[in-house]
Amino acid sequence: MQQGQQAGPAPHEHEHGHGNAQGCGNAQGYGRERRGTPADTLDIVNPATEELITSVPATTPEEVDRAVARAAGAQAVWAALAPADRARLLRRFAALVDAHTEELAQAEVREAGHPVGNARWEAGNVRDLLEYAAGGVERLTGSQIPVAGGVNLTFAEPLGVVAVIAPWNFPMPIAAWGTAPALAAGNAVLLKPAETTPLTALRLAELGLAAGLPEGLFQVLPGEGPVTGHALVEHPRVAKVVFTGSTAIGKRIMAQCAASVKRVTLELGGKSPNIVFADADLERAAASAPGSFLDNTGQDCCARSRILIQRSVYDRFLALLEPAVLACTVGDPADEGTGIGPLISARQRERVRSYVPEDAPALIRGQAPDGPGYWYPATVLEAAPGERTAVEEIFGPVAVVIPFEDEEEAVRLANDTPYGLSGSLWTRDGARALRVARAVAAGNLSVNSHSSVRYSTPFGGYKQSGLGRELGPGALAAFTETKNVFISTEEST
Ligand code: ADP
Repeated sequence: MQQGQQAGPAPHEHEHGHGNAQGCGNAQGYGRERRGTPADTLDIVNPATEELITSVPATTPEEVDRAVARAAGAQAVWAALAPADRARLLRRFAALVDAHTEELAQAEVREAGHPVGNARWEAGNVRDLLEYAAGGVERLTGSQIPVAGGVNLTFAEPLGVVAVIAPWNFPMPIAAWGTAPALAAGNAVLLKPAETTPLTALRLAELGLAAGLPEGLFQVLPGEGPVTGHALVEHPRVAKVVFTGSTAIGKRIMAQCAASVKRVTLELGGKSPNIVFADADLERAAASAPGSFLDNTGQDCCARSRILIQRSVYDRFLALLEPAVLACTVGDPADEGTGIGPLISARQRERVRSYVPEDAPALIRGQAPDGPGYWYPATVLEAAPGERTAVEEIFGPVAVVIPFEDEEEAVRLANDTPYGLSGSLWTRDGARALRVARAVAAGNLSVNSHSSVRYSTPFGGYKQSGLGRELGPGALAAFTETKNVFISTEEST
């Protein structure tokens, strides 16, 4: 997703140990029960400084089991409330998030290394998602279908307990993509944030409780994927899993869900094209291209990391692209002027380096700070179609450029990956814009723009980029079962 559009997340105060100013280690603060000595802890590190912010207890499988039981109890209370009351509580939750925007944003800066302006927008996005979901509570209706001999009704019933397994790239918004509509549709939510970024999620659970959500309805369970996440996916009383993360883990979760036909929504990787036709407004396309693969330091499933350029304007476009890339400021995310922060972790930087070492030949390479922090410079490479850097998701500030001859080749190259999440195309020809947008196998296309995500429009992937859709008018329905009831109107004899 691109900053300044409608999706994205934010963070917290720190000290060593359990020094979260809002009370990490406080059972109520987590929105969940925690008894006894935690089996393990997660060290939360500031990616811009490599300093330890705090340590957070990891949730054991036994604690997951207790959390599910509490969630199920709270869900029964929640679903029985008048819809108008549920909507009111969600609006109050949204208002509290709004009132804590700066605190959440600062926490996101420290925990995830997001530039502070982006982080504020991410907190605002959580507010928007909650408000939008609240607006859907009373509009989530069933139907009456004409049949012979009686009346046929359908009901949209909540699923029960939903697990949301969130990634670290947009910790707050993506957590809210699942949580807000699931709650609005009458479910309880157990949110497992990524290992590196639990602090904003924990704070959101506190704000939900303060807004008046029933205790246990929205619980945040920090922990390792293979332990806490695994226990949630396996749990027989969890009705649905919403997972956002790597395609490899998504496939594993989908297979696990098959065992009990558990509902699952997957939002996975991408390697999205940015197709520039010769008739495009090249200045505008070049000016916006850097943000489309550098925002969030490229750690964005919608990053337009394959720039396909029509050969007749290839050199001209690259000449415009270079100064635009070099103008992006990489540095301290707490600084208001910074456009690009660090990568999330040393592990992530190693992953990016495994594709492109910083001394590998590049067409364009920006600057990155020295010293502590997981920095990596903005990089643009030439790549042949089919090359590893042109096919696999790098999840760092790296784009490849590939020339094409004509529309047919552009579409073929655009579709030449196992992914299908998003993509952009730049042209002044309206008919071509629609033709190409329809021909690219991806869930989210933008024309003369890099907009990917809005809370009010559906989002999700084709092919191995995912399963199901989040956001938009159908968001609440994805957290319901449809029940069909036929009532005979035949007279008794
Ligand atoms: P990354 O490799 O970029 O961290 P992942 O796909 O591994 O991305 O992680 C996304 C989310 O999935 C995180 O919250 C992580 O803890 C969780 N996760 C990882 N492995 C599993 C698993 N086996 N079962 C459930 N959740 C998992």
